[in-house]
Amino acid sequence: MPVPLFDTHTPLAPLRAEILARIAEVVEDSRFILGPNVGAFEAELAAYCGARHAIGVANGTDAITIALMALGVGPGDEVVVPSFTFYASAEAIGPTGATPVFCDVDPDTFCVTADTVRAALTPATKAVIAVHLFGNVAPIAEIEALGVPVLEDAAQAAGSRSPAGRPGALGAAATFSFFPSKNLGCFGDGGAITTNDDRVAEMARMLRFHGSHDKVTYEHIGFNSRLDEIQAAVLRVQLPHLEGWADGRRAAGEHYRAAGLGELVTLPRPVAGADPAWHLYVIRDPRIELVAKALAAAGHGQKAYYRRPVHLQPAMARYAHGLSLPGTEEAASTHLAIPMSPVLSAEQAAEVTQTVRAATS
Ligand SMILES: *Cc1c(COP(=O)(O)O)cnc(C)c1O
Repeated sequence: MPVPLFDTHTPLAPLRAEILARIAEVVEDSRFILGPNVGAFEAELAAYCGARHAIGVANGTDAITIALMALGVGPGDEVVVPSFTFYASAEAIGPTGATPVFCDVDPDTFCVTADTVRAALTPATKAVIAVHLFGNVAPIAEIEALGVPVLEDAAQAAGSRSPAGRPGALGAAATFSFFPSKNLGCFGDGGAITTNDDRVAEMARMLRFHGSHDKVTYEHIGFNSRLDEIQAAVLRVQLPHLEGWADGRRAAGEHYRAAGLGELVTLPRPVAGADPAWHLYVIRDPRIELVAKALAAAGHGQKAYYRRPVHLQPAMARYAHGLSLPGTEEAASTHLAIPMSPVLSAEQAAEVTQTVRAATS
């Protein structure tokens, strides 16, 4: 049986009636912007992450831009960001007026390290964006020890854990995306910023609403970027299930391991101490095109997400002059996402592994 790349439908099926009832309540209540569900979801998300504040915004890209501005990033500043990530991690620096400076990743974890960040620091560095890529958890404390504030891009890491706490509570601030395919997804676009810093939270709250907190006085040039009340209602039904879904993702990774996939290709390695809720399960191999072809022929889901890393994208050419990022190039040329979801079974993992075995032997 073909195994899909991800399955957002099955985990949500038992919640459908409750979600529809909550949406109907919002329609009845007729408060569609910054109503009671947004406020309640913000409190619930903050509690889940172990952060003091959460601020709902329109999407995960705006979340990064607004968080950077709330951290004081502006024109003339540099922001260090990995090149091996979704394009938005770097694109979101643009509206702040700061300059992206690309750093490398460890191809075994797909995350930045203190060493790769250190190599990109200059006196103009104002912040570092550490991406918890594929659900792994970047070593935030080690990077902050370099003396720069870290913004966690946790778009792919809802439900992950580390000894220091959850993504969302590890750095100066963190950002989430609730794009439907993420570990916690709504029924459209949505995002959030979390932080333990009262002033960063206050600034982010103003910036998402045109730079104002009273809708009368406008103190900053901000954005119209709010989490919709309907999306917040949908997310409130789902959040209590995130931990169970994350456990399902962890179990799916174990299924691949038990099936022997690690003897055939390189499996993603959790950062020391981290307990990732794998958003995507990404293997590496020098013969990856062969593996991709075999999986596709068997009808299994597979996708190379970042074959062309961000610093080699046309829009970023001016920031990539003479840049050499060997870990990024290694990850970009050898990675492949294979099926992963909270409900991926041992049988499905064995089927995918069998296809990889046939392709690599
Ligand atoms: C999805 C994603 C984003 C952007 O989130 P949107 O809600 O789609 O704007 C940013 N960074 C990473 C790593 C992502 O995966």
